[in-house]
Amino acid sequence: MKIGFKTLGCKVNKYESDKIAAILSKKHEIKSKTENLDICIINTCTVTHIADRKSRQAIRQIKQNNPMAKIIVFGCGARKKDNIYIEMPEIDHVFATYDEVINFLSSDKDIDDFENFNGSRTRVLLKIQDGCDNYCSYCIIPFVRGKATSYPERRVISECLAREKQGFKELVITGVNIGEWKNQEKNLSYLLKKILDNTKEMRIRISSIEPVHFDDEFYSLFNNPRLCGHVHLSLQSGSNKILEKMRRRYTTDQYESICNNLRKIRPDIAITTDLIIGYPGEDESFFNESKLFCEKMKFSKIHVFKFSSRIGTIAEKLKDIVSDDEKNKRAKIMRDLSVKLEKEFRKNNAGKEKVVLVESKIGKKRYIGYTDNYIRVEVFSERDVRGEFVVGRIE
Ligand code: SF4
Repeated sequence: MKIGFKTLGCKVNKYESDKIAAILSKKHEIKSKTENLDICIINTCTVTHIADRKSRQAIRQIKQNNPMAKIIVFGCGARKKDNIYIEMPEIDHVFATYDEVINFLSSDKDIDDFENFNGSRTRVLLKIQDGCDNYCSYCIIPFVRGKATSYPERRVISECLAREKQGFKELVITGVNIGEWKNQEKNLSYLLKKILDNTKEMRIRISSIEPVHFDDEFYSLFNNPRLCGHVHLSLQSGSNKILEKMRRRYTTDQYESICNNLRKIRPDIAITTDLIIGYPGEDESFFNESKLFCEKMKFSKIHVFKFSSRIGTIAEKLKDIVSDDEKNKRAKIMRDLSVKLEKEFRKNNAGKEKVVLVESKIGKKRYIGYTDNYIRVEVFSERDVRGEFVVGRIE
């Protein structure tokens, strides 16, 4: 059967879709496009109302293009109490988790299930935990993903070893809240060290992480050049008053000290972040405070989200709503700032020679890859260097 995927949302969703695809690829043809399909599996996101809307639009569009295909929907949107997908006529089956989708479509569940996966061999995701116990005031995720659960160390390490053996060159550590990974006294620093010690050549990239108290071991791991100089450290607001209302667990001073500690070890580290614009009660002065803090932190990219009220969260009931016009205006200011900071980050790195992991070919002898600090670099080569580490100069 021809099976296609549409994945919305974050890297955790991407990991789960890839996992299903890898298992199904043993017996079915996995298509890279959502055309001429027998089955389409749609992995939904519900982090904002826009994500809900995009998920619904994707389902309708795919059914329109593939009227005979069976439509299977799962993921965060399908785990909500008000599961809107049950009523949609385009959908044949709704599941909550990716395990349920796998159980429905296959009897194979080997850990080494990427063996026949036909995707790119450069970067691969590794999920180490699920769920979150923080209940930040605006966030729906703990309600749909449940309590924080850590994947066992043995499972994580054997998956790392399998991916390296299969030729992947970069492993991206993902989870809903990876800083929560624990096993009795062992924490994320321990696990990352284990991963580095057990792999030889693969680069290890930390994806999104919450700014919590990191131990010295965490910082010292960045002395290892195989740990990418890139951390996506969720800020959400640069105003202490708003952070408190959001029930975030740090102040801007604590956040800044994490950035300073990282930069002490890796001066050219890329620190990217998420920012929520227009949280209830965020007036002009709190917004300006946030903007100044972002400038000070010299982020290499800011992912800007407009506040979206989610049913069941604390923020749903808050007053002092920021108007849509104001949110749009502020979001544009922050996105412009992100573009400016991104350019500055690149300029500060210009002229440096860095190891580049080549991902794709863009023309005759022309290739594109990324440095460990996630700068896109064009590489020229007589031979095909996709999936290889080469040295490139940042323009
Ligand atoms: S840490 Fe906060 S924002 Fe992140 S998933 Fe948990 S509740 Fe949501």
